Amino acid sequence: MAETKYIFVTGGVVSSLGKGIISSSIGKLLQARGYNITIQKFDPYINIDPGTLNPYEHGECYVTVDGMETDLDLGHYERFTGIQTTKANSLTTGRIYKAVIDKERRGDYLGKTIQVVPHITDEIKRNVKLLGKKYHYDFVITEIGGTIGDIESAPFMEAIRQLKWELGRDALSVHLTYVPYLKAAGELKTKPTQHSVKELQSVGIQPDVLVLRTEKHLDENIRKKVAAFCNVDFDCVIQSEDLPSIYEVPIGMQAQGLDTAILRKMGITPGETPTLGPWRAFIERRNKATKTVSIGLVGKYDLQDAYKSIRESLSHAGTYNDYKVNINFINSETITEANVAEKLKGQDGIVICPGFGQRGIEGKIVAAHYTRTHDIPTFGICLGMQMMVIEFARNVLGYADANSREMDEKTPHNVIDIMEEQKNISNMGGTMRLGAYECVLRQGSRVFDIYKQEHIQERHRHRYEFNNDYQTEYEKHGMMCVGRNPESDLVEIVEIPGLKWYIGTQYHPEYQSTVLKPHPLFVDFVKTAIENKDKK
Ligand code: GLN
Repeated sequence: MAETKYIFVTGGVVSSLGKGIISSSIGKLLQARGYNITIQKFDPYINIDPGTLNPYEHGECYVTVDGMETDLDLGHYERFTGIQTTKANSLTTGRIYKAVIDKERRGDYLGKTIQVVPHITDEIKRNVKLLGKKYHYDFVITEIGGTIGDIESAPFMEAIRQLKWELGRDALSVHLTYVPYLKAAGELKTKPTQHSVKELQSVGIQPDVLVLRTEKHLDENIRKKVAAFCNVDFDCVIQSEDLPSIYEVPIGMQAQGLDTAILRKMGITPGETPTLGPWRAFIERRNKATKTVSIGLVGKYDLQDAYKSIRESLSHAGTYNDYKVNINFINSETITEANVAEKLKGQDGIVICPGFGQRGIEGKIVAAHYTRTHDIPTFGICLGMQMMVIEFARNVLGYADANSREMDEKTPHNVIDIMEEQKNISNMGGTMRLGAYECVLRQGSRVFDIYKQEHIQERHRHRYEFNNDYQTEYEKHGMMCVGRNPESDLVEIVEIPGLKWYIGTQYHPEYQSTVLKPHPLFVDFVKTAIENKDKK
């Protein structure tokens, strides 16, 4: 396509309607038609990135290959489309303002007064268009966090208004709203949607497509009413009913012609409808899987979204093993020597989750000890891997005071130490070891067998590392350092070969599992958990 087209996805009525899933589905459907697409997220909060945010605020922090700490929606974009995102796909108000203020300090504005309009809005527009210009995408889909009417999203709305005006048919607005069902009246109510669209119109944006989230089917009359009240074509009023899985949303959207409506509105002839073969095959396989395997997540954040990518990776892996994965959160703060058997009871495999700081780490160590000595398949990720290493030092190597420098600065047995280049860092934001690094796997190791290749690339987010001074001792006692960064020699993977599955990765494999390309480590871990269950 000659000119890049821009699609803006906004939300109204309430938050948490699943704008990320709708944006991902639009991306998926256009991609299936052969278009080159990318999806971008603007978060209206002031933080430069979500890296310093507690997961209770906005859920997990997702990391791109180029080391940007981003919103978890970028994880959906990648899992749906299989296309990697970068720094340019994740912007916040903080980043926009920072760029403008940096320019002002450099004197780039030549004495002008810097204002929200046009300087902030221009910077937003520049970041939207950058993707189209630099990477020549056919479609750039931009999702705006928050809901219409939020004070902080106003500059983003103004930027969309201007872009729509400038680009004409090459820009399109998709607005996602909610149609509540009032049980007492037995009625579905469209008024909140009408109000939400009015609000959008009041800032000068006429939505082209409306996606109505609903728990009950919306009949033609209701959709006609919405179309008439909101100045939207009838075929552009799409409903998004609750579905058993987020991965069924693209199918539902395609069945209602969301992609054809978008293309038509943008002046493009839709052509043949793609069959979405592999995607449908995945869903069929997923729906056919009725047997279940239980995986316990040992972590400290009792919030679904805090470990979003791990949950999705496990669920992909389940499907590829023809099993349904039941994920059970086990709060590590409550795990003790006395209750660990009871707490982990019934789990066929355990994931020891990533994290930061003291809270809940002793419970993770107790869990790692229990699963190692009871040969329960265990997957330690980042902090989880570090806890496996500490447990081994305390209970096998005989260093009762072994710890990570993160938790105990003075420990004489710092089996997990701060990375050299992290020692003088005082700014917390964006300064960890972030993004994709190469790792070389040891021939003959379990992980080599799983990945079936020697060189891999995985994404990182940490400040501390395995202390290489202890490597010989670990290996002598059976914990092997089987993955290393070829340049820095940092240990990226440990495993205990004699056990069913006891592997810890310093990196986060969960960021790379997608629907059509599940992560081999998760697939193998779940497979072993299933075998473990069957043997019980
Ligand atoms: N807190 C640990 C570190 O910084 C682990 C980080 C993580 O689990 N992502 O090294």
